Formats: sequence, C-alpha cells, structure tokens
Amino acid sequence: MKKKPPSSTSLIAHRYVPPPGFTSVQPAVHRASTVIFANTAALRARTWKEKTGYTYGLHGTPTTFTLEERIATLEGGSETLLVSSGLAAITLVDAALLRAGDEVLIPDNAYGPGKELAKNELAAWGIRHRFYDPMQPGLLAAAMTPATRLVWLEAPGSVTMEFPDLPALVRVVREHPSATVALDNTWGAGLAFDPFELGASGDPLAVDVSVQALTKYPSGGADVLMGSVTTRDAALHQRLKATHMRMGWGIGGNDAELLLRSLPSLPLRYEAQDRAGRELAAWWSKRAEVVAVLHPALASSPGHEHWAALCTQAAGLFSVVFDTRYRSAQVDAFVDALKLFRIGYSWAGPVSLAVPYELAAMRSRPAWQGTLVRFSLGLEAIDDLVADCRQALDALGPAAS
Ligand SMILES: *Cc1c(COP(=O)(O)O)cnc(C)c1O
Repeated sequence: MKKKPPSSTSLIAHRYVPPPGFTSVQPAVHRASTVIFANTAALRARTWKEKTGYTYGLHGTPTTFTLEERIATLEGGSETLLVSSGLAAITLVDAALLRAGDEVLIPDNAYGPGKELAKNELAAWGIRHRFYDPMQPGLLAAAMTPATRLVWLEAPGSVTMEFPDLPALVRVVREHPSATVALDNTWGAGLAFDPFELGASGDPLAVDVSVQALTKYPSGGADVLMGSVTTRDAALHQRLKATHMRMGWGIGGNDAELLLRSLPSLPLRYEAQDRAGRELAAWWSKRAEVVAVLHPALASSPGHEHWAALCTQAAGLFSVVFDTRYRSAQVDAFVDALKLFRIGYSWAGPVSLAVPYELAAMRSRPAWQGTLVRFSLGLEAIDDLVADCRQALDALGPAAS
C-alpha cells in the first residue's frame, strides 16, 4: 500500500513535553522568532523591557538570556545586551547615546572601523567627533566640551598596542557629569582587568559601558561573530536596550549556543595564548630586523607601567615594527613565507595569524616609521611558532644600507 503523506497539521501540532528530570552540562538551545503566548491576557501582560517573560525571539530567548547573564558576570557588570558583531556593539552605544549636536571623543589608536563609523554615519547624523591621544590624559581634558556626551576608551590601542592610564582617563570624564564613558574591552576579555573596578580598593572608579567583540576570545573558534554591551547602571541599560529593540539588533540561538560552549574554556585559552604571546614577543625583542616590539607586558612598550598597574594578564597579541631599511614588499615576503601563521583579520582563534600594516596610513602622528606586522597567537606549540618566524625571515632579504 502506498503511504499517505502526513498532513502538515499533524507534523506541526505535535505534542512536545520537555523531558522532566533531564539535566545536561550545556543549557538547551532555543531558537525562536515567534514566542507562543498561553492566551491573550498573557500576550497583553508581557513587556520586552524586563526579563520576566518572553515576547519575540529578537528580544531574547532562554538561550540568549543565559548568555547575557554569563557575559555580565565575566565583565563584572549587571546587564548585557548581545548584538551581531563587535562593531555592532560599538554602533549600538553610539546610536543609543548620541544625538545631533552632540560630540563623541575617540582614541586616535582605536579600532579602525569604529572611527570610520564616526567619520561617515555619525557625521551624516549631525554628531561631531574628535580623535584624541589617549596617552596624554591632559589632552583629553582639553578636548572635552559641554557638547561631549560620549568618550570612548580602548586598552591597549588597536595594532600599535599603547596601554593608556585608564583610571586617569575615566577621572577626566568624571569631571563632566553629562558625559558617558564607554570602553572597548575586547583585548581584556573581562579577564585582564575589571572595567567596573578601576580604582584602588574603596575607590568606585568604573566605566559606564564595556563592550566586547565576543568574536575574539569568548568565541575562540574564529567562526562566530558577536558583540556585547555591558553596564552596571539600570537606567543606562534601559536606554541601550530601547535602541537595541528599535534597531532590531538581536542575535540567533545557534550563535549563542556556540558562545555558551566556548566560554568555559575562555580563561584557559586566554592564559595559554598570553604565555605563547610573551614568549614569541621576547624572541622578537632580540632580533635585529625589528626596531620595536609592541606588547604591553614588555617594559619597552608604550604604557607598560599602566598595564602593570592594572593587569597581570595580557592577550596573546602583539606587533613588531620592521626597520625602515626593509621595504614594505620585503616585509610582505616575510609574511607570505610564514607557514603556521596564516594571513587574516581578527584574533584569538585556534590558528595563529599575521597581518602587515603601514604605520603612516593608520595614525595621524605615528611614533614609528615603516611596516608593522601584528601577530595573533593561536593554540599551536610555541616552539613551532618561533621556528616558523625564524625560517620566514630568510624571505625578508637584505636590508638597504
Ligand atoms: C575585532 C574587534 C572589534 C570588532 O569585532 P567584530 O566582531 O569583528 O565586528 C571591535 N573592537 C576591537 C578592539 C576588536 O579587536
């Protein structure tokens, strides 16, 4: 007898009883756009503003709420919002806190795409921006005006790795009660230092908002894009949440699941990649081909004393500046000759990465000349990574005299 196909109703209206008495290590994964209400009274009673219930997948599911709570714990905050990338986390803060006529101050060495956002969309929306030198808190104080509503911090700076005096910068912003201070905490990952406890004990010095590209260490797999926005202040969280809701910036359950799987090993990976990064940075410090090794844990790196005052750990990430007697094409040949280090953006994944940058194109007043290579340490054996750098230096060729 030919089988009669089941009606779609029989497939959809299938009874599902969650298994009682079943507990697993990982939380269950819930995927939803639609959330079902028991009746109209329940539908009318629910609000997306509180986590007392569920309204629509975009505003959260048990899976995304679980991840939000874990990131808030990691950051030492009380509330977290999740968005589709680290850059989207920066965008959420800008969009929620800035209006036409306001001004935002951004470190000169901040993550590049966040600066491009200020130069393009924010400018078009009538929001002014200025880039400041984060290594001189006095210059930040001078740059603040009554229109300054938001000040970004980043520690260390992207690619050039200068570590600013974060407590001093926060104190400058605190002189202006109408300004909010937001930190890009991707490098620290919630482990290297506590963005909500920057002062000595008893000194309640804290940033207002901490954002992370969860894409980096919290994921660790080089396969997920996600960002977080964490606060300690309930009113500030609600302002951010309202914009998050109106802009439609929620995340899906599958990506949250990947993060929930990676988070337990975050401290172990961070520690291992830190150790490898310091070992390779120390090796580069003895090489004549480079004029600077930019790693905040090295005493010669800019802002090392500020790193040492706040941190014991560091991300497995550093840059070397090649002597200008090597042309940019020679440095590219070195990078191309690397076998274990692959060429690609982002960092904190299992595979080590190298990217060349031209300093002159990146900074208004670069402290060094020439070509820089940024290394991101993966999880390979450190001896193999050192050997890879050594063999690839053969491709660099002779220095100009
Ligand atoms: C990577 C990165 C971002 C952006 O993260 P994406 O998820 O790639 O958008 C933001 N800030 C810093 C410091 C980063 O390194």
